[in-house]
Amino acid sequence: MAQEVQLALQLQRMDRQLSQLEAEIRGLPKKIAELEKQLESHEKRLEADQASLTSNQAEIRRLSGANADFVEKIAKLKKQVMQATTQEQLTAFQHEIAFCETETTKNEAASMILLEEGEKLATTVKQAQTALADERVAIEKRKEEAKVLSELDRKKGVKIYRERQQLSKDMPPKLVEQYERLRKKHKDGVVVAECTEAMCAACMMNIRPALMQQIRQYPDKLFNCESCLRMLSYNPAVSA
Ligand SMILES: [Zn+2]
Repeated sequence: MAQEVQLALQLQRMDRQLSQLEAEIRGLPKKIAELEKQLESHEKRLEADQASLTSNQAEIRRLSGANADFVEKIAKLKKQVMQATTQEQLTAFQHEIAFCETETTKNEAASMILLEEGEKLATTVKQAQTALADERVAIEKRKEEAKVLSELDRKKGVKIYRERQQLSKDMPPKLVEQYERLRKKHKDGVVVAECTEAMCAACMMNIRPALMQQIRQYPDKLFNCESCLRMLSYNPAVSA
């Protein structure tokens, strides 16, 4: 392979590493923001469950208070029954007692349902509180890891960048100029394209047989794809 192509390939490798590092550094805060958003939605769900539990407990208290009043009222009515002087009075008191008893039974049934619901809610709330605590710890850990990782990436990037600077200084200026021009033109970062027997692997255009023959004949010369202008890397061992 031509020396120039090998140098260009080295540059390309470094540029790829640099853009990967950059993407990783940029992606880290995004990932953490996603986790925090998830945490927030879990917190909101917990708040809603806690509010349901509070109103469930308030309703149970209200029903139990109402039943205590009914018990008192029934006792009073039973005394009044004893003192009733007419059949009408007696019937009225008995009706009222029956009404109070029906209401008490209804309230008891409603309380039972609420108690069951409340138990489930309390379990859900407790589990969610534990899960949230774990989630918060996990996010803090991820934040720390991200900080360390992005610092590492940054250092790696600086090192590669310096090596790249040095390499491009050591390369023939015309080659560097061509490389930079092609890098600007091709946003995929592919400046050096693999060249198989008859095709440029980057733009997939066929290479004319005459050019192909020249490539084979002068392995130390730099050739470019006639279609996309990328530098061609020809490796007979791999191509065969
Ligand atoms: Zn091409």
